[in-house]
Amino acid sequence: MSDAPATHDAPARTDFIRQIVRDDLACGKHTAIKTRFPPEPNGYLHIGHAKAICLDFGIAAEFGGTCNLRLDDTNPAKEDPEYVRAIQDDVRWLGFEWASLRHASDYFEVFYLAAEKLIRQGDAYVCDLSPEQVRAYRGTLTEPGRESPYRNRSVEENLDLFRRMRAGEFPDGARTLRAKIDMASGNINLRDPALYRIKHVPHQNTGDAWCIYPMYDFAHSLSDAIEGITHSLCTLEFEDHRPLYDWCVDKVDLAHNPELLAPLLAKGLPLEAGKPRQIEFSRLNFNYLVMSKRKLLALVEEGLVDGWDDPRMPTLQGIRRRGYTPSALKLMVERVGISKQNSLLDISVLEGALRDDLDAHAPRRMAVIDPIKLVLTNLPETHEEWLRFANHPKDASQGERMLPFSRELWIEREDFAEAPPPGFKRLTVGGEVRLRGAGIVRCDAVVKDASGEIVELHGTLDPASRPGMEGANRKVKGTIHWVSARHAVAAQVRLYDRLFTVPNPDTAEDGKTYRDYLNPDSRRVVAGYVEPAAAQAAPETSFQFERLGYFVADRYDHTPDKPVFNRSVTLRDTWSQKG
Ligand code: ATP
Ligand code: MG
Repeated sequence: MSDAPATHDAPARTDFIRQIVRDDLACGKHTAIKTRFPPEPNGYLHIGHAKAICLDFGIAAEFGGTCNLRLDDTNPAKEDPEYVRAIQDDVRWLGFEWASLRHASDYFEVFYLAAEKLIRQGDAYVCDLSPEQVRAYRGTLTEPGRESPYRNRSVEENLDLFRRMRAGEFPDGARTLRAKIDMASGNINLRDPALYRIKHVPHQNTGDAWCIYPMYDFAHSLSDAIEGITHSLCTLEFEDHRPLYDWCVDKVDLAHNPELLAPLLAKGLPLEAGKPRQIEFSRLNFNYLVMSKRKLLALVEEGLVDGWDDPRMPTLQGIRRRGYTPSALKLMVERVGISKQNSLLDISVLEGALRDDLDAHAPRRMAVIDPIKLVLTNLPETHEEWLRFANHPKDASQGERMLPFSRELWIEREDFAEAPPPGFKRLTVGGEVRLRGAGIVRCDAVVKDASGEIVELHGTLDPASRPGMEGANRKVKGTIHWVSARHAVAAQVRLYDRLFTVPNPDTAEDGKTYRDYLNPDSRRVVAGYVEPAAAQAAPETSFQFERLGYFVADRYDHTPDKPVFNRSVTLRDTWSQKG
């Protein structure tokens, strides 16, 4: 669970949802709160889901309550066990543990009994209208709907037809079970919404047991009630569904009709039914990303990215591989806050949270990603020393490491200029630069190949400028990073950048789609060198490579012999400067 103390008075956050929870506990409406995170297993979770997860699990933990993970698997056609596994992996990665893992399909029998209860109460009926007719009867925002000619069937006829629906007597779409509410309601969701539909499709959890499946509003509200969820948090698009949510909960009234819960006992599930309250909050949306599962699926299926866990994807599997940390995501969620105002946030909010988290926590290492050799000609061939470096400039608790230094170094090609532009502060022929932590070097000469390309630099290390010596603080304009050529480990470095070039790839103009705005430079793979202490890191270890940015050892491909690092984020926001 999160590290927040599990007491009733500790939380300091003051958003409106936490205030409701606090009030409900203070007035004794609830003695313990219970939430749930209810993803549909039809795709991978994305950054938006991280907000819902942090809220659902975070609030439960802060107020000493519990949170269930519920797979909302009521739509058999689109669901897959692969997604179920990934969802669990993602929630745990964020640092949360569910009190109980449930499937909406665990409750199919309860839903069925609840539907029969509604029929007996005269609150539901079997309707024979085709989907097109249902639409035509529904009316519009300005016009009331018309009542179905099947609306006043007797309870007996409805029960008979509903049982025969379950028994598989009718083809897909032939009939539905509908709630009998109000065809003139201003809220279209209340115009006799469907509760059950016929679908002869096997289900990932229940196999061939069912050929009728409950609709979302019915299944979701009753699932919350069955689990005794006190606060059912969801995104704003469900605000208009809340009257139907409450209607289902109240009409079925599981808390006072325990006979409906008997199927749970057969499954070994506890009886904990209650009356849940739905509360909506705004969705998380960022520019420069697409986040709907449908579009993410298209990116994968069309080969525009290398799969769901491509580090450029906004899936949790993707950003994890990119080097995002659970604490960075929690920081982002904290900064964004909870409101009822939908908005498109700037991606810099996400990247800034990662930068701030890694700046505070990631150890520093040296790496060179576009190497050119610098030979210190006044050192002997065999020169080798190990210099002491702090792992983190602001966090002494991270300790120190030894970094090898020798006669031949790799430095960045762009840290040298034969014809320096005005203001160039790094190495030039005849000029001096500080080698980070190792002394001051003067470049004496360049060595070129037949084509005129510079292949090597020759320089002299000022012996009086070594660390600890009198001249160590002598002023020179620039400081550059380096690694010892003999000791460094060759590494593959993947330089990731934003997947899209425009802030709103989702708005198709001139027949264009997000596919037309893919950033051709969103991934560059280069061959570099890293210091031994970086190569030896375990997969998923994050570092700041000094002066280069934040990098992570790839979750799947990195080994100490063949290191692979992914750039998580640059040191500064280079996009906002581009204008
Ligand atoms: P998408 O529309 O991206 O495919 P979804 O809403 O269909 O996602 P679900 O699996 O139904 O995804 O979502 C599970 C929970 O996560 C729901 O409570 C939903 O409200 C919440 N959620 C989904 N997307 C976001 C988002 N962008 N911001 C905050 N919460 C979200
Ligand atoms: Mg959904």
